[in-house]
Amino acid sequence: MIARKLVLRLPDLPQPWDVGELCRALERSRGRSLTLHPVDIPAMPSGFWYDDGESDHIFYGSSVSGYYRDHIILHEICHMLAGHGVAPRDLAAAHSAGPFVRGPGRILKCHNTEEEIAETFSAMVLKRAGRMRHKKVSAVESRAQELLGVPCARRA
Ligand SMILES: [Zn+2]
Repeated sequence: MIARKLVLRLPDLPQPWDVGELCRALERSRGRSLTLHPVDIPAMPSGFWYDDGESDHIFYGSSVSGYYRDHIILHEICHMLAGHGVAPRDLAAAHSAGPFVRGPGRILKCHNTEEEIAETFSAMVLKRAGRMRHKKVSAVESRAQELLGVPCARRA
């Protein structure tokens, strides 16, 4: 499975889980800057990755947080690691109504297979991250974390 191979290319997941920390580890391992940009653009899809030729940038909605923010960022990290499509990608994403998306000055093709891989990748990484985070909590707390995407307070 392609997503699994891409997950194996990640550095060790930060403990406790922190997507920003993972991005910094990726910068070190790839020798390339990776900047996260929370932005407020009404027409923007969930997120997109942009390669400016020297460094990588991931944009996501500034109103998104927690589990969903991490999911979006990981989705874009997958595109970045796999070298999917042509930047700026993901203006199509799964949210687009059609198979094509209008990019700045051109029409970009939306590759549904790449979107599926990126979604699987995100879910796999978050599952791993969640497993680490759930170690010292009860089954009920663990389930609540899965549902809410928010870690419960640890007992002393
Ligand atoms: Zn995508």
